[in-house]
Amino acid sequence: MDDIKQPRRWAAWMGQLFNALPCTCTICKQPSRTLLCTQCFQSLHRTQNCCTQCGESLPGIPTHMHPTKRCGRCLTNPSPIQRTLFAYDYDGAIVELIQQFKFNEALILSKLLGDMIINRLKNSDICLPDALIPVPLYVDRLKQRGFNQSLELAKHIGKALDIPVYKFLLIRTRATPKQSGLDRRAREKNIRGAFKLHTEANNTKLTGKHLAIVDDVVTTGSTTREAARILQRISPALISVVTIAKTRTGMKAEKNIAKGDKQEEQRQGPSYLHSSRQPCPTAAQRAALSLELTSEDYSALRQ
Ligand SMILES: [Zn+2]
Ligand SMILES: [Zn+2]
Repeated sequence: MDDIKQPRRWAAWMGQLFNALPCTCTICKQPSRTLLCTQCFQSLHRTQNCCTQCGESLPGIPTHMHPTKRCGRCLTNPSPIQRTLFAYDYDGAIVELIQQFKFNEALILSKLLGDMIINRLKNSDICLPDALIPVPLYVDRLKQRGFNQSLELAKHIGKALDIPVYKFLLIRTRATPKQSGLDRRAREKNIRGAFKLHTEANNTKLTGKHLAIVDDVVTTGSTTREAARILQRISPALISVVTIAKTRTGMKAEKNIAKGDKQEEQRQGPSYLHSSRQPCPTAAQRAALSLELTSEDYSALRQ
């Protein structure tokens, strides 16, 4: 009898120990039971007056009073994206959180950041997506970073809301120069043709479904727009974008993203290959590194 109770006692003891351990807020480093303390959480902000389609600000008029709820660019230049849902403006504490997550390999933050997107999805006026499509990284960038931040977010959201994650549906066909520092037109040119559909994409039965592209940050929206353009080939009913943050003040946001990009470049190289922290990739990671997938890999399409 005592043997049966042993694992339960052990779990309870571990739980007590975990609660007793000192924990600090990721942002202000003050003692906190959670990764983000209440004060830092309350400092996060989301612009309310924004275009429902691309997330850009709609100056002056509250979105619900706006006749079209869309910005001039979306009205004059039809986008394949019908909705953009972002949890917060890319400013303040959220910048630090995303940079820690993305550039310092703080994967523990994927749940916190994923929860922010889940909360936004649950409180939106559109139905939950039928499938989550993370923005893919090119294989070289994936090796360098060691993980795809969009896939990590999608995995957490998918698990929590019971939505399948199609991690190989979109494939990045080539490396693209960093988008930070480029204007909208240059970004669009830079990313054009950088994605393709998996050869089995038409067998996924996603025609007529709501697809949500998952990305960590949306700036001008050039990347997600190009991803959506390719996804249109399987004729979904709706394509939305879900993201942690949308940039507002161009210059400041650009500086922050460029800073993170530079930090990453200055690292010693691919963590998979040189770091003792992650000695060798798991089978799933190896599969994620594969650019061309055979029909045997089809089962991995639906996670
Ligand atoms: Zn804090
Ligand atoms: Zn717009």
